[in-house]
Amino acid sequence: MTRGTGGEIPESRHGWGRVAVDMSSDERYLELKKRLATIHDLSKVSALLSWDQSVMMPPGGAAARAEQMATMGRMAHELFTAPEVGRLLDELRPFEASLPYDSDEASLIRVTRADYEKAVNVPASLRGEMTRVASLARNAWADARANKDFARFLPYLQQTLDLKKRYIDCFPPAAEPYDILLDDFERGMPTADVRGLFSSLKAAIVPLTARVANRADAVDDRVLYGDFPVDRQRAFCLSVLRRFGFSDAQWRLDPTAHPFASNTCITDIRLTTRYYPDFIAPSVFGSMHECGHGLYEQGVSLSLERTPLARGASLGLHESQSRLWENIVGRSREAWRCFLPELQAAFPQMADVDLETFYRAINKVQPGFIRVEADELTYSLHVILRFELEQEMLAGTVRLEDLPEIWNARMKAYLGVDVPDDAQGVLQDVHWSLGYVGYFPTYVIGSVVSAQIWEKARAAMPDLPAQFAHGEFTALREWLREHLHQHGRKFTPRETLKKVVGTDRIDVGPYVQYLTTKFSEIYALAPARTAS
Ligand code: ZN
Repeated sequence: MTRGTGGEIPESRHGWGRVAVDMSSDERYLELKKRLATIHDLSKVSALLSWDQSVMMPPGGAAARAEQMATMGRMAHELFTAPEVGRLLDELRPFEASLPYDSDEASLIRVTRADYEKAVNVPASLRGEMTRVASLARNAWADARANKDFARFLPYLQQTLDLKKRYIDCFPPAAEPYDILLDDFERGMPTADVRGLFSSLKAAIVPLTARVANRADAVDDRVLYGDFPVDRQRAFCLSVLRRFGFSDAQWRLDPTAHPFASNTCITDIRLTTRYYPDFIAPSVFGSMHECGHGLYEQGVSLSLERTPLARGASLGLHESQSRLWENIVGRSREAWRCFLPELQAAFPQMADVDLETFYRAINKVQPGFIRVEADELTYSLHVILRFELEQEMLAGTVRLEDLPEIWNARMKAYLGVDVPDDAQGVLQDVHWSLGYVGYFPTYVIGSVVSAQIWEKARAAMPDLPAQFAHGEFTALREWLREHLHQHGRKFTPRETLKKVVGTDRIDVGPYVQYLTTKFSEIYALAPARTAS
């Protein structure tokens, strides 16, 4: 194994003893847990530094922050890939086999071994370089986006892609190079499966969107625009989030340029959102979305704290939670029976808006430029565009300097919109600057899975919508906690899905059904003729 030039960290400095030959299984397990707890601490400090960079840090901190993040990333990687960790994992095989598969202990050993076998392929020097470039690129991206100037970001994107290629080369060849990147976000899901999923989705969404487009005038969303002072938006968002499960003792909500959810532990959840003083929807639905992520992290069993199992099973499953709370719950007619009077109290100009008008407004289908503000129907097309471009960038079949032009041409082809500038085009998402290539597909996987989960929860508790109308969301949250959240990362994404919905197969059926029913009603579409 190639090691970085950063130098080995002497174990004594961390209070770690040698792994003695005559340790008992219990002692070996505790030694492994102790090491993993230290590594977890480093990763959570990194998460806090990253949160700070997006929420609090003045620009002057950028260069030093990049070094700090790289140092933390390198240290965590070196500690995790130490040969002693591999030896402990090997020696713990009989102990693991003696325990139930579902136990915390067997799961920790099993999942850590899979992570270890992946991590030892990547030299610490490369890991540190990826972290350092990501931190610098994030600031370059923010600057380029603010100035609507892709050229400022181009050299960083080039470096990021070069590093991704070196990263791919660290592993045995996969069926396609993209598989290796995708696996970092959606363990065990091959690119070919995503392609299949996306093509059946496209086959259903494109004609449905066309039928809706023919009736575009049926929905008017002007009520969402006007004078919405930011302080009152924040207060309203908080009142919604509190019903979902937000509490001041364990949560924060802060403004940022690109909303995200983060946490430093199971009982410290950081949500962010963005406010437009003349448009109410982004802050409200953005907050609901990030709250879904937060509820997943906060629902993880406390017995898994300070281990690599103390987080969601995959990004797809994570996104199933954010999209469930944002769309299936948050954009439902029933939830707004409760929320609309509160919104009207905060913004008197809405006093005369009736529930039907409001419900239709927040579900208006309107092809636009911005993915995070897309309606449920056209959202997947934004992601499919990115999925295709990422594969082409890796394969070198598109020149990076041509990206803005290619982006704009495809937006025209897929969504029929003319992108006015790079900030609303190729520069809108933070992901590539962070080195997150292979991440986008998880958004659509999440949408699809959210409908499978909702179908199951509804079957178990048919009166959920009636509860929402009374501002009651506890039963849904607790059901999700019991069937999904508490397991954290103990199981693979497929095993986890099976625990929630009873099958390990991702099925577009319920999602297509949900979209068809909802938008056929809102747009009064005649029943579609189906081929089969
Ligand atoms: Zn999300």
